[in-house]
Amino acid sequence: MEWSTFDLQGLFSEILPWAEAVADDAGIQAECRIADGVALQADRNMIRQLLLHLVKNAIEAMDKGGKLRIDAREIDGRVEIEVADTGPGIPYYLFDRIFDVFYTTKEKGTGLGLAICQRIVADHGGQIRVSSKGFGTTFTVSLPLKRASS
Ligand code: ADP
Ligand code: MG
Repeated sequence: MEWSTFDLQGLFSEILPWAEAVADDAGIQAECRIADGVALQADRNMIRQLLLHLVKNAIEAMDKGGKLRIDAREIDGRVEIEVADTGPGIPYYLFDRIFDVFYTTKEKGTGLGLAICQRIVADHGGQIRVSSKGFGTTFTVSLPLKRASS
């Protein structure tokens, strides 16, 4: 892994123009709130990958339009990132399986995205959670602000 300390908003500014353009094409309204002045120590490329996978899944879940919400802020020495959509949701009994390698419900899916996300989060000593209550899905990623000293 390549650890560095970087500005969270700077990283998001590389992703959001893409996300907003793809969302717009799909009739999806995007609402993004990224706190400024948050310095995160992490593998920047890995965190970018993680965000891309979550945003891509959210957009793919809303083929008939909807709302994408991305929030990132600092809470208690951690960075908390939420990616929420208004798609069909995920039944609770699949909450574990969706993270399995090759689990996909898409015709051309690889089933790798969330497995990669889970791995990246674990490598940073963080957590990833999914919640969905009959409608819409929210993925929440919590990462330590700083690399744990070993
Ligand atoms: P892929 O996107 O290639 O199918 P992922 O690992 O990214 O693989 O996702 C696995 C599965 O989890 C998806 O096929 C889908 O069934 C489900 N999933 C992931 N994100 C969402 C979401 N935001 N809304 C609904 N289902 C989702
Ligand atoms: Mg995916």
